Amino acid sequence: MADNNLILEIRDLRKYFPIVGGLLGRQVGLVRAVDGVSFSIRRGETLGLVGESGCGKSTTGRAILLLHQPTSGEVVFEGQDLTLLPTEELRKLRVKMQMIFQDPYASLNPRHSVQKIVGEPLMINGLMKPGSPELRARVAEMLQLVGLDPFYMRRFPHEFSGGQRQRIGIARALSINPSFIICDEPISALDVSIQAQVVNLLQDLQDQLGLTYLFIAHDLSMVKHISHRIAVMYLGKIMELTDRNELFNNPLHPYTQSLISAVPFPDPKLERKRRRFILKGDPPSPANPPRGCVFHTRCPLAVEECYTIEPEFHEIQPDHYIACHLADEKGSSKIPEKTVLAAELA
Ligand code: SF4
Repeated sequence: MADNNLILEIRDLRKYFPIVGGLLGRQVGLVRAVDGVSFSIRRGETLGLVGESGCGKSTTGRAILLLHQPTSGEVVFEGQDLTLLPTEELRKLRVKMQMIFQDPYASLNPRHSVQKIVGEPLMINGLMKPGSPELRARVAEMLQLVGLDPFYMRRFPHEFSGGQRQRIGIARALSINPSFIICDEPISALDVSIQAQVVNLLQDLQDQLGLTYLFIAHDLSMVKHISHRIAVMYLGKIMELTDRNELFNNPLHPYTQSLISAVPFPDPKLERKRRRFILKGDPPSPANPPRGCVFHTRCPLAVEECYTIEPEFHEIQPDHYIACHLADEKGSSKIPEKTVLAAELA
């Protein structure tokens, strides 16, 4: 039976990009950017999606919005699989799904005024006419909502700071009243002093408008405050997914533990005392992923079966999912105590 509390369900999503080479331009391989990802998002929640650069998290976001057509898998939004919908129905549903991009400098057209940028989704979707008083009123309302003075709607992106530009990007995403927003590293390009302001704004808007977010970031400290649950991604696959507090207090996957050990503690005494779990080397290429567990080439705990058998992504405790051979069904883990870093400092 369908769960009405879920706004989005991703089932075994894959996105492979062909590698073309040689004089004849033949396909010589595949980049497995997203390789069998499954998760769901509840209405009104924020799911954080974290992982190193190139792990496939942004491609996952784009495949959900069908900006990249998935190679296979299901993207079920409000009970309907987007990959099977005819174009007209897809257009109607897509209005409810928007994206906030990473780079507020590159994502806003420098030749367009703020009025045109924010009003563009309304015009493209035929909801309001260009130059109409309703359009101007809606743009003014959106700018006020994100904390910008509507007086400046005739100005151009270069006349604003990075934080203000990201607010313009948020106003644009909100203009057609979406229920679900993918925030693709929305604060990574901003000064640290501005990042908290944008995160607070997104949280306020969520409370005010009942929005649901998929919040993509490359480090855990960025998603920690805004997310209700967090999914950790590595080489195109989800390694661990659970409630934010559970993830920080009881991280079971060695990769999650390494990410948590890199999150700085505000208390300098604790910071000095803690042990770091530093991974060796770089992630393998998604064009040539390792057999078995994709993390085995960097995992300090790898055992024989890790080299040949891929661990199943499964629920180990209620609402705590993991893909690791060392985690047993009872919810405890065979992962040695000494590697658990967050819990010992909590
Ligand atoms: Fe490490 Fe093996 Fe677990 Fe993969 S399955 S994370 S290699 S212990």
